[in-house]
Amino acid sequence: MSDSDPRIPAPKLGEPYLLTPGPLTTAFSTKEAMLRDWGSWDSDFRAMTAELRGKLVAMLGAGAEAFDCVPMQGSGTFAVEAMLGSFVPKDGKALVLANGAYGQRAAATLRQIGRPIELLDKGDYLPPRGEEVARILAGDPAISHVVAIHCETSSGILNPLEEIADATRAAGRRLLIDSMSAFGALPAEPARLQFEALVSSANKCIEGVPGFGFVLARRDALEAAAGNCHSLSLDVAAQWDYMNRTGQWRFTPPTHVVAAFLEALRLHEAEGGAPGRLARYTRNRDVLVAGMRTLGFETLLDARWLSPIIVTFFCPADPAFSFPRFYEAMKAKGFIIYPGKLTVVDSFRIGCIGQLDEHVMRAVVAAAGEALAGMGVNSAAPPAEALAERARLAA
Ligand SMILES: *Cc1c(COP(=O)(O)O)cnc(C)c1O
Repeated sequence: MSDSDPRIPAPKLGEPYLLTPGPLTTAFSTKEAMLRDWGSWDSDFRAMTAELRGKLVAMLGAGAEAFDCVPMQGSGTFAVEAMLGSFVPKDGKALVLANGAYGQRAAATLRQIGRPIELLDKGDYLPPRGEEVARILAGDPAISHVVAIHCETSSGILNPLEEIADATRAAGRRLLIDSMSAFGALPAEPARLQFEALVSSANKCIEGVPGFGFVLARRDALEAAAGNCHSLSLDVAAQWDYMNRTGQWRFTPPTHVVAAFLEALRLHEAEGGAPGRLARYTRNRDVLVAGMRTLGFETLLDARWLSPIIVTFFCPADPAFSFPRFYEAMKAKGFIIYPGKLTVVDSFRIGCIGQLDEHVMRAVVAAAGEALAGMGVNSAAPPAEALAERARLAA
């Protein structure tokens, strides 16, 4: 296939590509699915809700029969708060495994809603390991739940979910997963990974538009969750019960977003489901990382922890480099990139998800090279301190 013949058509009307982990670049047919109105109580829309729930449960794979899907209005954070508030009972306690902004946000959410927590904070670079989880759980019998982030989108690290799940199960506790930026591409098969619930949203790996999240939870856990929630509108058990009885959402659903999501699900299936999507994202990452390295850029993470979702690069050491100028130059060439979210070193991120393929990634690398040349930056090599810090923490 030549570069003039991309498999994925470019966005229409001169739109830039969004190299961001949601909202992301969606297919034209996904956007087009929003060009009509739906009555939220009408049987046509109720059938759409049922289809969405059934397809998301099936996407879990082996062991999915024990699960049900509860969509929740709002951005992903609303769905995370709904999951935490609905499954961690008021007399429970959660161990939060944090290595970035989303782990920190889960901890902040639990504090805000008055659930006691224990925080394992691994900083920006390092994964929480199974043996650490086992040690903390052994020392604190009050902990009822473990909260893990599947792919920590602030650095792009892919956390070792299986060993975390094994340690949690071995200690007889329950696992809640923020799989926001992973579900739909990376596996979370209940037969291989024991968990109580996971949460994701419309606008990440399924490539829909933003407007709702969804909780995939064990039916027995959904039954047991009745009455737990601190919030009226974020109560997953109440939404589940109402949806089962009426086929409707408890409050106004994002009808157009649901219609777009069904088209996104159709495209997901046509691509070969999660394995097909993972293959494309992995290729995107590999082409991107190899190309950026030829310009001198370095990734924050060691190769073994690099996710196929989003990659963090150190900003170059060259004093001629300015991130705002780099961002604007990339935008002028049709690419919206993402500022870094690290606490210690200067960085930026490039997403690999959405309607992008390797041809797009090659064009991104070419644009980055031209942007550097435009600023008079000769090499994108990071500061020695950044590499030393990475090596020290990885040791
Ligand atoms: C995107 C994301 C969220 C939710 O963010 P919103 O901005 O509320 O949609 C939560 N956790 C992770 C890991 C994410 O990537």
